[in-house]
Amino acid sequence: MDKIHISHIQNQIQKAGATLLVVSKTRQIEQIQFLYDMGFRDMGENRVQSLMERIEALPNDINWHVIGHLQKNKVKYIAEFVSLIHSVDSLELLQTIDKEAKKHDRIIPVLFQCKVAEEDSKFGIAVEDVDQFVDDFYDLKLENVVVHGIMGMGTLTENSEKTRSEFRELKEVFDGLKAKYFSDQKSFKELSMGMSGDYEIALEEGSTMVRLGSVLFG
Ligand SMILES: *Cc1c(COP(=O)(O)O)cnc(C)c1O
Repeated sequence: MDKIHISHIQNQIQKAGATLLVVSKTRQIEQIQFLYDMGFRDMGENRVQSLMERIEALPNDINWHVIGHLQKNKVKYIAEFVSLIHSVDSLELLQTIDKEAKKHDRIIPVLFQCKVAEEDSKFGIAVEDVDQFVDDFYDLKLENVVVHGIMGMGTLTENSEKTRSEFRELKEVFDGLKAKYFSDQKSFKELSMGMSGDYEIALEEGSTMVRLGSVLFG
């Protein structure tokens, strides 16, 4: 791992006004500690089991994010401390998060995961269904969940114009929801998009949070 390389990436992201989320999945504790020592405090895992192991092994002032598909029966393990859940794509999951948050007297921030990539992924809300999803969310009147924005992934492709148009579509969804549903909510401000292979395009297209693993850890 190379401090100069990592600082360069961090500068790029800071200049764009975005946040770097360190995706620590599959990495050794020493590698994650290296980034912690460089000052990084936002870390993301896609599996609850590994998240719980990391919490035991690392300092306790890390903001932990869940970025992968989250099963309802796992929410109880993370409800006490999770900073942001990026991967919310069902009302049942929202209800569970709300219920578990209540037990800890917390309001848990979430992102709605939206699907723009061509790949036939099982996860994410289709763009044409997003408005209905938010309408249904409001009907539930959940008190212990707050929506901070949306998350999305681009298709894994060498075609950067395709990636760009998908990120542009996510930005349109974000702006549309902001205008229609969240205009009075300052906390609706995160557009989580961009990974190691496409984060520069994501920043150009308005990402506020890039999720980086391999480009940092090498
Ligand atoms: C693994 C993962 C990332 C980071 O991927 P890299 O290509 O290693 O940067 C970002 N987002 C999600 C949802 C992931 O699962």
